[in-house]
Amino acid sequence: MKLSKSTARMTIVFFNLGVIILVMGVGMNNKLVVSTASVLFGAAFIVRFYMLRCPHCGHPGPIPKWKGNDSVICRKCGEKIEYQ
Ligand SMILES: [Zn+2]
Repeated sequence: MKLSKSTARMTIVFFNLGVIILVMGVGMNNKLVVSTASVLFGAAFIVRFYMLRCPHCGHPGPIPKWKGNDSVICRKCGEKIEYQ
């Protein structure tokens, strides 16, 4: 069983957008923009926690990869996790 690359990409996009918007919000001193950034961080965390889990042991939060050929090692069981 492989993990979905598009799900992994979604967490990366949410997180990077969150960083950009956070920097903008802090720069503009705009609380609304800063809270938008925290919503994006929350979304990235939720997607990663609930949708990216080790297929072997169910441990949440393997490192998301953008490219399909890379695989990561589960921090809990040490099995290789592949993205497709
Ligand atoms: Zn595992």
